[in-house]
Amino acid sequence: MEEPHFTPDTVAVHGGQSPDPATGAVMAPIYATATYAQPQLGAQTGYDYARTVNPTRSALEAGLAALERGRFGLCFSSGMAAISSLMALLSAGDHVVVSQNTYGGTYRLFERVFSRFGLRFSWVDTGDPDALRGAFRPETKMLYLESPTNPVMEVTDIAAAAAIAREKGALTVVDNTFMTPYFQRPLELGADVVVHSTTKYLNGHSDCVGGALVTSDGELYERLKFLQNSVGAVPSPFDCFLVLRGLKTLAVRMRRHEANGRAVATFLSRHPKVLRVHYPGLENHPGRAVHERQASGYGGMVAFDLGSFEKARRCLNALNLFTLAESLGGVESLACHPATMTHASVPEDLRRRIGVTEGLVRLSVGIEGEADLLADLDAALRKV
Ligand code: PLP
Repeated sequence: MEEPHFTPDTVAVHGGQSPDPATGAVMAPIYATATYAQPQLGAQTGYDYARTVNPTRSALEAGLAALERGRFGLCFSSGMAAISSLMALLSAGDHVVVSQNTYGGTYRLFERVFSRFGLRFSWVDTGDPDALRGAFRPETKMLYLESPTNPVMEVTDIAAAAAIAREKGALTVVDNTFMTPYFQRPLELGADVVVHSTTKYLNGHSDCVGGALVTSDGELYERLKFLQNSVGAVPSPFDCFLVLRGLKTLAVRMRRHEANGRAVATFLSRHPKVLRVHYPGLENHPGRAVHERQASGYGGMVAFDLGSFEKARRCLNALNLFTLAESLGGVESLACHPATMTHASVPEDLRRRIGVTEGLVRLSVGIEGEADLLADLDAALRKV
């Protein structure tokens, strides 16, 4: 089916999906097999070995490509496996410009693993066009963005940044985990590759770990497909089934995450004990206008600053409905302390520079009742 003229709500349910050719099963079956019988020596069926191809994975890859309005999807065993396989496009001596505030695991992978293989990284405020332009070098091969960033929700103008990267001959990659294609589609804004941790909103139920890359460039797809098979960090068919199942409700979940996210951000912004709230939907968010141009919603991630580690600790320990946990994007509300949890591997000076303070609390606002979430936050803030 031709997806682009359907709404994202419809694409989430049907995108890239067709009944199973063997049985007509409307949901892609879990093809639990390591290999495939070959009818005759040299006869190609399209299926040879399950690291290379698996029908459950192919269904998910097609669904994700349709949602991002890209041509090709590739799935991996985690978000970090997707990013690792992507970075294997590069060679020793290549340079990458990266949003200064990304997920801490991305920082760790780039600086502590890939730098040992001769890749070089510059961490810049990609929301500042002059800083961005100035960061490119003759050997820059990739611009790697998050918008809004994890956890302080800094916004980059994706179209403007991708135009600069194209002019400099570099690929633009956008980690779209926070927004999901329901709210933001970076390929339409000029990005070459979209990254996802499908662990998060795309699966949406906190019951598996996975990752994905999506592109519309056929040549790039062939190189990434080669790396997917060569590196071998592929997801199990069962995990692909779980993410596919999650995709079906992406639209309803994202609308609810956002409604609750807005309510929580507004509540926190009016609370006397909260110093600062990071949420692109708030009037005073510096990236709000850019975000509204490139995304159709603000999402369910909210971060707020209480001013000190002790205050953050009291608040986190007093929360009931919000579970203290790493990760995000599931139906249940989670709270974390980025400085000691998700971003612990980012050096303290960089953490301070990007606003990941000791008093910062990050919320992944779930789909529970709004009044219950606000009451939980209200009670926890009384203990601060
Ligand atoms: N990108 C972002 C924005 C994330 O928040 C995360 C994980 O928290 C990742 C990538 C890594 O994904 P995974 O945990 O699935 O490896």
